[in-house]
Amino acid sequence: MERRPPSVDRLARSLSGSGLPHALCVEVAREAIAADEWEVAPTRADELAAALLAPVVNATGVLLHTNLGRAPLPPTGGGPVRYQNLEIDVASGRRGSRQGDGRPADLVRRLTGAEAALVVGNGAGAILLALAATASGQRVSVARGQLVEIGGGFRVPEVVAQSGCQLVEVGTTNRTRASDHAAAGSDVILHVHPSNYRIVGFTEQPAIAELAALGRPVVADIGSGLLDLGCPWLPGPPPAWLAGEPAVRQTLEDGASLVTFSCDKLLGGPQGGVIAGRADLVEACARHPLARALRPGGLVLQALSEVLLAYLRRDVATVVPFWRMALTPVEELRARAGALGAGRVVDTVAVPGGGSVPGQEVPSAGVALDGDLTAALRRHDPPVIARVDAGRTICDLRTVDPADDEVLKAALADC
Ligand SMILES: *Cc1c(COP(=O)(O)O)cnc(C)c1O
Repeated sequence: MERRPPSVDRLARSLSGSGLPHALCVEVAREAIAADEWEVAPTRADELAAALLAPVVNATGVLLHTNLGRAPLPPTGGGPVRYQNLEIDVASGRRGSRQGDGRPADLVRRLTGAEAALVVGNGAGAILLALAATASGQRVSVARGQLVEIGGGFRVPEVVAQSGCQLVEVGTTNRTRASDHAAAGSDVILHVHPSNYRIVGFTEQPAIAELAALGRPVVADIGSGLLDLGCPWLPGPPPAWLAGEPAVRQTLEDGASLVTFSCDKLLGGPQGGVIAGRADLVEACARHPLARALRPGGLVLQALSEVLLAYLRRDVATVVPFWRMALTPVEELRARAGALGAGRVVDTVAVPGGGSVPGQEVPSAGVALDGDLTAALRRHDPPVIARVDAGRTICDLRTVDPADDEVLKAALADC
């Protein structure tokens, strides 16, 4: 009998009982059909669902169980004490990896089209490990205009030195060309997105594709973790304030060998860092001794997993706080400001912040009160942090969760 594959769409829909987000069902269906074994798709979907990071009951009698995240997490919100399936393959009962199938690293891979990915403790750790594992003892060229300080002591030349690589500066402060990297004869090219400032005027930086065409590995530190320029996880088009921000998927498509980024900037997750890209290079990162020193803990991975699943379910705009706040319509903020019953309702300007998309503004609204009331607001329990502008205290509602409007109202009434 002739075996005829079902359509990806039909097979994916038949997998919905696994509880996986539809985007993951589509992936499982596509992989199974490509491997000519679509009959195993339901099993694969159930295995992947079981591999997602989740609480487990530890009945082994081993108090500090390495596979279950060692010490159990303290209860949150009155729930039970929890162990996690951190390093166990629940389906087989065997030792698993916190970076394996169904874990945040794997979800990043599926969301960005990367061959492989690895999660570490923060963005600085990601770039340090990427360089140490792929270029230690080698010459790494960086454009002079990209020898930046991100803040908090993160200076690109120092990170390159700490990773055991030899820094080769190329080009000038305002202009660097791909031919500058070619002439330097470096082994690896490091491209750093100048997240927190702009060089304007007579400037030039080579595109990732031009650097990739030179035939040596390009490590791109894009900083803020925008996963895809098209923002397919949002209900509408990408917001205007994302203009000029590089994204993981497109940077890889342009030919970067590795992309590094933070999890707690535009991604909207917990503090973390990711290295994504070529499988052999990510594998070299995972095997490097620094990987153990930089590995993320279970709490971080659990929070990151929830954020990435929201991307896969396409409900980022309602579930991930950063995106929910950033996308709230201004009219809604004005209405909430009016309901505070204090000060005047004013239009304001919010910013993405965190060294992301410098110079970009997000239209916003809030209340303005005469004088500097910030110290009184900070004395409230919980403290309210506001800003002063031209002798007025401004409370901007874009960053206030609607659930905290009552807190803000009480704090303003106390002033
Ligand atoms: C923010 C940033 C970093 C540092 O990331 P952390 O998560 O803060 O360690 C490194 N490079 C770039 C380009 C950044 O924007």
